[in-house]
Amino acid sequence: MSLWQKMGDWWRRMEEQAREAERQKKNKREEVEVPTTDPAAAAIFEHKYVANHPCLCGGKWQMISHDSPIPSGTSGMECSCTKCGNEKVFVFRLW
Ligand SMILES: [Zn+2]
Repeated sequence: MSLWQKMGDWWRRMEEQAREAERQKKNKREEVEVPTTDPAAAAIFEHKYVANHPCLCGGKWQMISHDSPIPSGTSGMECSCTKCGNEKVFVFRLW
C-alpha cells in the first residue's frame, strides 16, 4: 500500500469518527413541546416528563442544571443517569 493510500484511509477513518461523535451528541438532546406558557405549570410538566422517560438502562435522571423558561420560551434541563452516568439534555419549548 502506498503512503498516499494510507493517508487516504486514515483521513476517511477520522471523518467517520467525527460523524459518529456528532450523532451521539444529537442523541443526547431531546426536544419536547410543552402545551403551556405558565412557568409554574411548565415546571410540573417538565419534572413529570423527565420522570416518565428514564435512561435507556432504566435508571432515573438526576438534574444537573435547569434554565429559567423566561424569556426565550424554552427551558433546558441537563440530567445525568443515577445508574450508568449517561448524560442527557431535555429541551422544553413552551407555547
Ligand atoms: Zn442509565
